[in-house]
Amino acid sequence: MKIFIDGKYYDEKNAKISVFDHGLLYGDGVFEGIRAYHGRVFKLKEHIDRLYCSAKAILLDIPLSRQAMTRAVIDACRQNRVRNGYIRLLVTRGIGTLGLNPNRCKRPSVIVIAGKIQLYPPALYARGMEIVTVPTTRNLVNAVNPAIKSLNYLNNILAKIEANIAGVEEAIMLNAEGFVAECTGDNLFIVRQRQLLTPPLSAGALYGITRGTVIDLAREADLNVAEATLTRYDLYNADECFLTGTGAEIIPVVKIDGRAIGSGKPGPLTRQLTDQYHALTRITGEPIR
Ligand code: PMP
Repeated sequence: MKIFIDGKYYDEKNAKISVFDHGLLYGDGVFEGIRAYHGRVFKLKEHIDRLYCSAKAILLDIPLSRQAMTRAVIDACRQNRVRNGYIRLLVTRGIGTLGLNPNRCKRPSVIVIAGKIQLYPPALYARGMEIVTVPTTRNLVNAVNPAIKSLNYLNNILAKIEANIAGVEEAIMLNAEGFVAECTGDNLFIVRQRQLLTPPLSAGALYGITRGTVIDLAREADLNVAEATLTRYDLYNADECFLTGTGAEIIPVVKIDGRAIGSGKPGPLTRQLTDQYHALTRITGEPIR
């Protein structure tokens, strides 16, 4: 695998960044996780836009234009012969001193890793997964806003550890008010009486690109979709539940905190949207060439 760092390619064992990079020292930076399907990068513009929005929110000046960044992602896929894969794009604050002041960091670093991802075991897609709510709450929007896809994922990692302790793969995070925000690396939807409901971004969710795609697909299929403030009660009594994310795509949830959701099996609208999603990945995206 050849990894892009600041305009050059390095093989895996030489792809290194400084121990003084504030991305490492403080989690100071932003990132994106992107998928390629059938020789095309899926929703690339949306990911690039979100990267620049995250960077703007943390006053990080990305040293590449959007066009050059788009090119770098496509080129990294080409160099690695990735046709179906996963691309991790990172921008770190760059090399600074041991103090946390970002003014000491001269130039942000851009890293592109084009490889593979397998987030959840295939059986879980067929069977549906069991998840739990965990004690670690989502960050407040006026702290590190969860809309910022920053390199500081410790809040989510703590929730993931709590999911692991509970013996499940993913965790539902509530916000400080007790409303459902999202999961550690996925957005959450429920189906209630054929209506799709998902927490608003103000509840502390990331503006998920898969979430946006699913909303578009649902509307195309004449399904009713709304953002709604959801409690755990709403989840327990939903007809269906699923999670969305670039890595996970759409994964059914069949049990939450020990309560079976709907029939206890992946629901029909979850299946329908999954089929629609896969069909879309076959026909759209930025060609890798
Ligand atoms: N929420 C969080 C916290 C995430 O990290 C991610 C991305 N893995 C998502 C939701 C899903 O977002 P997207 O569909 O853009 O991948």
